[in-house]
Amino acid sequence: MKILAPEENTFDAIMVDLTHRCNMECANCYIPNRDIPDMDINKLFDLISRLPKRTFIRLIGAEATMREDLFEIIRGVRAMGHRVSLTTNGLKLGREEYVLKLKEAGLRLVLLSMNGAIDDEIYRILDNGRYATLKHRALKNLLEHKFIVNTGTIIAKGVNERTIKEQVDLMCDYAEKYKVKIPPVVRIRTIATLGRSMEGHTYDFSEFKQNVCNQLNITEDYMQQNKTDEIVNNMEGYVFKHRNVMIRLVDWKINDEGVPDFGSELRGRITEDWKIAPFFHHVKENEYGY
Ligand code: SF4
Repeated sequence: MKILAPEENTFDAIMVDLTHRCNMECANCYIPNRDIPDMDINKLFDLISRLPKRTFIRLIGAEATMREDLFEIIRGVRAMGHRVSLTTNGLKLGREEYVLKLKEAGLRLVLLSMNGAIDDEIYRILDNGRYATLKHRALKNLLEHKFIVNTGTIIAKGVNERTIKEQVDLMCDYAEKYKVKIPPVVRIRTIATLGRSMEGHTYDFSEFKQNVCNQLNITEDYMQQNKTDEIVNNMEGYVFKHRNVMIRLVDWKINDEGVPDFGSELRGRITEDWKIAPFFHHVKENEYGY
């Protein structure tokens, strides 16, 4: 595995596992170990200060909002001249004051997981709780306050296919209501077999694509015709414009070692000894560990 010192970093984006704590207990979680201590903020800032070029720093978790100093971390990353995003389950973003504090800290891009759109029954099955109201509020708060928003929806075969249309419709309605300038992105994927995952509910990509077409009443030709030139790492995938939003589908095909997106030069991950490794490769090798 290619592991780099911060000064040598070539990854476009670096995923930062700020904490292994989480306020949810989803059925599908690539990072289910809650026993690892939080990342040290000073060591994190030291690593970021040594990066050779402007880099996309993606704050993830488990659930990054569990950290009280998240605002300070966002400010620090911005002050060093890097781009920053937050990936979150959104429970805390259901409170408008929290979203405003994120904005004040300098955050503009949020990736919000919404596996059930606004359907509590789906959240109960996939995420072990009735989270529809909080997630819905989080999405509304973010778009109302002009964040750039990507939502992430995991599709479990035979469970929540209907979420595809519901999530797209929801995003389109809000994009129109809040007159968003940068189209929000609805990311849809099937279950990845990393960490804790529901067995027997993963789609292969061609079947998955067909399902998305059926749900949205579109064709694969339509996806092709509306495809943008955005790169989807080493994964097969589509990013296409649909009504007033973008839709992003990726194939979670794994290699012989069980690693999705193998060999990607785009996403790195901070290792426990403060270096940078390929994201999924490192996650897989340390499954249930760091
Ligand atoms: S998938 Fe995300 S929100 Fe769900 S338990 Fe894992 S870290 Fe928490």
